[in-house]
Amino acid sequence: MTARVLIVDDIPTNLKLLEARLTAEYFDVVTATSGAEALEKCATGDIDIVLLDVMMPEMDGFEVCRRLKADKATHHIPVVMVTALDQLSDRVKGLESGADDFLNKPVDDIQLIARVKSLVRLKVLTDELRARAMTSQELAAEDALHAMATIDAEGGRILVISTDTREGLRLKENLGQKHSVDVLTSPADLALATAESNYELFIVSMALDGFDPLRICSQLRTVELTRATPILLLADETDRSQVVRALDIGINDFIMRPLESNELSARIRTQLRRHRYAMELRESVSSTMQLAVVDEMTGLYNRRYFDRHLNLMLGKAGAQERDMALVIFDIDHFKSVNDNYGHDAGDAVIREFANRLRRNVRGVDMACRYGGEEFVVIMPDTGFEQAHAIAERVRSAVADDGFDIGGGRAIKVTVSAGVSLNDADKDTPDSILKRADIALYQAKQQGRNRVVFDAA
Ligand code: GH3
Ligand code: MG
Ligand code: MG
Repeated sequence: MTARVLIVDDIPTNLKLLEARLTAEYFDVVTATSGAEALEKCATGDIDIVLLDVMMPEMDGFEVCRRLKADKATHHIPVVMVTALDQLSDRVKGLESGADDFLNKPVDDIQLIARVKSLVRLKVLTDELRARAMTSQELAAEDALHAMATIDAEGGRILVISTDTREGLRLKENLGQKHSVDVLTSPADLALATAESNYELFIVSMALDGFDPLRICSQLRTVELTRATPILLLADETDRSQVVRALDIGINDFIMRPLESNELSARIRTQLRRHRYAMELRESVSSTMQLAVVDEMTGLYNRRYFDRHLNLMLGKAGAQERDMALVIFDIDHFKSVNDNYGHDAGDAVIREFANRLRRNVRGVDMACRYGGEEFVVIMPDTGFEQAHAIAERVRSAVADDGFDIGGGRAIKVTVSAGVSLNDADKDTPDSILKRADIALYQAKQQGRNRVVFDAA
């Protein structure tokens, strides 16, 4: 994992020190000696994470952070504040200005690398989501970014995992004013406790009586339902090496005992915001992707999606020398359905046809509405016999039973199909489609309600 790290400090020796350590871990390092220079470099768009000194003349670290987080172009870049060890209020102030994390001076090697790595991992995820949101629909991305700016971090659903009943109670009391907190004192019940509750944050104590906290964390990371949920570890100074391993497993943050309540609540807030942002983005991306690829009337894939995937699947089948079949279905004399019964009846037929099509192809087959009353199915790993059987099954599923067009009326509908099989050496999306289309034309010529194979 590599990333471009911007180090900001007004004292050159500090810069050199951090630069040497990060370069040794193969990070790409950029430096800035003032807040203004830092903002300028972040605006270029290729910074993955910022290590920001608090004490700087002119513009201090808090102000730089606030500006980075207020700007739509830079607010997704993780910021780590570098503060003096004895300035607890600085840490809290840093997190409140929107910083994602902080490091104490003098900077500890393990913490430095662990924090940078864990934040870079998160950045990779959000970058990908942002990129997808941008390509699928610029507008939705804007929505998501706006949502992020307005996301608050109250009312978090938190599960504390600690065998120390008193600590659990104390945390519940402390955090319970702002959040909804459950405490799990018997980690053996973890699966049960997390099965349905939709937690947004796990706080895991490293001092678990009779249980390995790392096992708990890896279990949370393995299960689909909790995979993306942030984990905050409560650690003691003696747990340091374990904390490093936990960061590798994918925990998001840790906090050292004795717990300082401002620091704890700031850390929780950061994790909740990050998580809610990621969820928001994911949701908006998947719903816009949904819109972009699905035909609204039938729920089948649309033509745009089909074009993209035909290309992909054809390439794959060609490279692996595997069979692939393509079928075009076209409803017979559909124009007369519209003419005789009206456009709404026509729509009802298209929808019902799509249902029958969906029910009669296999899960691996990809069925799309190609346009109007034409449908295409891509069948991977499928040769002549299977393709024939499936196309024939669809044909008879249409012809055998009347189509309900409302008002208690049912009409007879038939469909014709043209099938082509891929020729690994020379097929392009256009040529395989073309051959299926020629076969379809022949099916129409031969009297409709039939399946014809491309003869080539
Ligand atoms: P053939 O057997 O040769 O396929 O005859 P056909 O009448 O089905 O052929 P054609 O492709 O000429 O007619 C298709 C008609 O489908 C024309 C168009 O008005 C109608 N159509 C296309 N999309 C829709 C739709 O979404 N709803 C309805 N109701 N009609 C549609
Ligand atoms: Mg047609
Ligand atoms: Mg037709």
